[in-house]
Amino acid sequence: MTETAGSSRRPVHVTVTGAAGQVGYALVFRIASGQLLGPDMPIVLRMLDIEAALPSLEGVAMELDDGAFPLLADMVVTASAEEAFDGASWALLVGAMPRKEGMERGDLLTANGGIFGPQGQAIAARAASDVRVLVVGNPCNTNCLIARSSAPDVPADRWFAMTRLDENRARTQLARRAGVPVSQVSNMAIWGNHSATQYPDATNARIRGRPVPEVIRDREWLRGDFISVVQKRGAAIIAARKLSSAGSAAAGIIDSVNSIRNATPAGDWTSLAVVSRGEYGVPEGLQFSYPVATDGRAWRVVEGLQHDADATERIRVTTEELVQERALVGELISA
Ligand code: NDP
Repeated sequence: MTETAGSSRRPVHVTVTGAAGQVGYALVFRIASGQLLGPDMPIVLRMLDIEAALPSLEGVAMELDDGAFPLLADMVVTASAEEAFDGASWALLVGAMPRKEGMERGDLLTANGGIFGPQGQAIAARAASDVRVLVVGNPCNTNCLIARSSAPDVPADRWFAMTRLDENRARTQLARRAGVPVSQVSNMAIWGNHSATQYPDATNARIRGRPVPEVIRDREWLRGDFISVVQKRGAAIIAARKLSSAGSAAAGIIDSVNSIRNATPAGDWTSLAVVSRGEYGVPEGLQFSYPVATDGRAWRVVEGLQHDADATERIRVTTEELVQERALVGELISA
């Protein structure tokens, strides 16, 4: 293993699955440039894809070479999950089976179970003892549940599914409406599933420290267009770009990992789908997006937020969807 010139730190191994895909392509250069783990941390990038995608992945590796990234200590290109997760401290599970025409949700979940179950086992067998896992490949909450269930020795609090892109989208919509920079929007929680049932919670969000409903007084917009724009933003980008949102997804991954690694600013929270311990009445064990705060070592779900009848109903619907997804993959997670 080569050591990065000028750094005496031992490199951290970061695994990216589906690294030959669109999101992977937008992500790996940002990781190599230090945006995932900071400007002083050398990295070994371990890139996994299916056999058929390896030639393309070799091309990505050549481009990474050509970037001459000082922090990139080494790279691994492989179709073997065991090799990909060997020694990994961060596992970013991006590759997933895309939904094909005529495919039922149950078929999609089962097909992905065939990917995420073995990947969970490989993480348990080969990753570093401090491994943390972020699942992006959709349906990401339940894919994460499947992988976690396949790796019972890896503590449940090390598993995350990504709702940060939804949070970022929501913050931008609120900032635009209020005419403030996006940095002035805080406390934006996404509740539930990363799907059309997610609940972006503007009521508990803040603009310049004030509750959003005091700043944006248009209740109809907050309950209507705001929520549907966030829920349908992915489809709008596909319509415009003819490709899904890869750059912003990669940005969401970088933000997610940074919000897990670093302490949350006092009084703020971020959105992460984490294992439910029953907070807000959500059944235990679901991988559920909550408002989460951390001191950089241990995270907690922020409790005590109030929900009106509309929010309560939306959270019930997204919870029910996750309960159904769990039932559809029941055999995979009880194995
Ligand atoms: P993308 O890189 O565009 O997407 C990868 C995953 O991320 C998909 O599940 C996708 O979900 C999700 N995703 C994409 N955009 C967003 C977003 N904006 N927010 C949240 N999630 C998002 O797909 P590609 O087809 O370009 O690449 C997938 C790669 O994965 C391929 O190279 C394929 O070979 C690989 N793969 C690897 C496997 C393995 O290593 N075992 C197994 C299966 C696939 P959605 O479909 O809903 O957009």
